[in-house]
Amino acid sequence: MILDGKLVSRKILESVKKNVEELGIQPHLAVILVGDDAASKIYVKNKKKAAEKVGIKSTIIELSETISEAELLRQIELLNNNKDVTGILVQLPLPRHIDKNKVVMAISPKKDVDGFTPENVGRLAIGLEPYFYPATPQGIIMLLDEYNIPIQGTDAVILGRSNIVGKPMAQMLLRRNATVTMCHSYTRDLEDKIKTADILISAVGKKIVRCKMVKKNSCIVDVGIFRDSNGKLTGDVDFDYVSDSAGFISPVPGGVGPMTIASLMFNASKVYE
Ligand code: NAP
Repeated sequence: MILDGKLVSRKILESVKKNVEELGIQPHLAVILVGDDAASKIYVKNKKKAAEKVGIKSTIIELSETISEAELLRQIELLNNNKDVTGILVQLPLPRHIDKNKVVMAISPKKDVDGFTPENVGRLAIGLEPYFYPATPQGIIMLLDEYNIPIQGTDAVILGRSNIVGKPMAQMLLRRNATVTMCHSYTRDLEDKIKTADILISAVGKKIVRCKMVKKNSCIVDVGIFRDSNGKLTGDVDFDYVSDSAGFISPVPGGVGPMTIASLMFNASKVYE
């Protein structure tokens, strides 16, 4: 069965739109874009479009590539103190002369719609409710829940340990009482670990789940998205091989990508301050 992210994301966006209508105040997402990175510009434009569709006000703050770190931190402080702004997102990557961690740490945890600040990450890790869960893993959990895929007691294997996907994904699956194995580029006998997965989440960015190495009837979530040698968008999983054995599988495109946007809009519709 295909985990249809396009379909489920539409459903989530509809419910976010309804919630926004009933909220009584309009959420306002401020998106900071530093420099001229073409891909970042497209991501930011798509976020603005999605926000408009669900009734969330959005403002893109375009800053020069040469902005100093101090000035960027000052801009964030202004947004933290601006009562009209309910969510702040800094589009990554940032230019090299700016310390990404310092910038993320400057965002108020109650406006941190990406869920990347130490307070939100820490809350997730110690079992407190974070103000915001990171969008991609939250979107994956929403997708699994929509298809009633059991998580409790399952063996979950995650490929990739990034701060935006792998690590928060592990925390969120642990919270739901899965037994979690995290794999990365130093993991030995990767294939043996993949074979144990009832739920396999792959967030690597290369074709890594290749042949019939997955467990029968397992659930495969492909987070990776990149272009193959022919320029075609593809994911980490060799869909044709793996789909014979898997019970559930998310396609690329049309799986985790649209769920991430829907999950981000879910976050942007929350108003704390
Ligand atoms: P990332 O920062 O690109 O890091 C990749 C991870 O894969 C690292 O943890 C790395 O291990 C691990 N890795 C590399 N080679 C490996 C190997 N041979 N075996 C096992 N693990 C290996 O991760 P990311 O930012 O999470 O991105 C991963 C992919 O997901 C990319 O294609 C990205 O475009 C995609 N993505 C998609 C969405 C979406 O919404 N669809 C959202 C976020 C990311 P080390 O830590 O040891 O280097």
